[in-house]
Amino acid sequence: MSPILVVGSVAFDTLHNAQGSFPRVLGGSAVYASIAASLLSQVRLVGVVGDDYPESATAMLRERGIDLTGLEVSPGETFHWEGRYTDDLTSRESIRTELNVFAEFQPKIPAAFAESPFVMLANIQPELQISVLDQIRSPKLVVADTMNLWIDIARPALERLLKRVDVLIINEEEARQLTGRHHLVEVQRALLALGPTTVIVKQGEYGAWLFQPGVAFHAPAFPLETVLDPTGAGDSFAGGFLGYLARENDISLPTLRRAVVVGSALASFCVEGIGPNRLVEVGMADVNGRVAAFDELVRA
Ligand code: AMP
Repeated sequence: MSPILVVGSVAFDTLHNAQGSFPRVLGGSAVYASIAASLLSQVRLVGVVGDDYPESATAMLRERGIDLTGLEVSPGETFHWEGRYTDDLTSRESIRTELNVFAEFQPKIPAAFAESPFVMLANIQPELQISVLDQIRSPKLVVADTMNLWIDIARPALERLLKRVDVLIINEEEARQLTGRHHLVEVQRALLALGPTTVIVKQGEYGAWLFQPGVAFHAPAFPLETVLDPTGAGDSFAGGFLGYLARENDISLPTLRRAVVVGSALASFCVEGIGPNRLVEVGMADVNGRVAAFDELVRA
């Protein structure tokens, strides 16, 4: 098992969906990714919270073995994101993104983390993702996620980042926005031309594709009885994906394909609860059970 360094947002989320409104739920790309990855490997979280971040949340992360040495507490308010979902939960709009303490954050990677072999640059300003990479010595694998906001307002930094990333994980709509292409085969080719050697395109309820030059692999999403809240599904996917690679300490294609299935399993648990409340209950036996159910789904 190899350690994973995770950087990204640590947030309060206010969520609106057909079930109602849920103010100030624990969230953030780094939190979802760390919770998922911590089932499979050892996680080092780097980020910032305000002095309003509850002790109960840091205690929950610590209990999962997540190393919080790199989680800074700054005077001010924690990042706050507010989103509204359509009634069918297939799309959402960001109503509010308050960076708060993230606006001034300069990540400082603790010396003991500088040699982290696996790095997850979860969704946050691309400049911060670059600054983290600048402080890491020869990682084995760097995975990055991003979103429409940064494609809109920070494209040059995002393009600089992508030249230094091994795996880009991105949803289909954002992949189209980033490349200006529509057809998936053209989209993946354009994404690979930006730098990553592997691209994962997420399609929500339709699963995820993994592409490398000359390689295409698809895993479905798990057909669930109940979907309550998709927030964090993408980050849980990324955490499960990288957690599995770190656990196996291997980045060969068969392991990458398996990691897509493990990531999909983690994402499927995430959407069964509001915020991370289902994800935090999940154990390795649940993950193994769902991975076996995935295998059953696609065996001809
Ligand atoms: P996901 O549903 O996996 O795409 O990610 C949801 C998480 O992303 C939420 O918990 C938010 O706090 C976080 N988030 C939303 N907007 C941003 C942003 N601009 N930068 C970083 N994290 C964000």
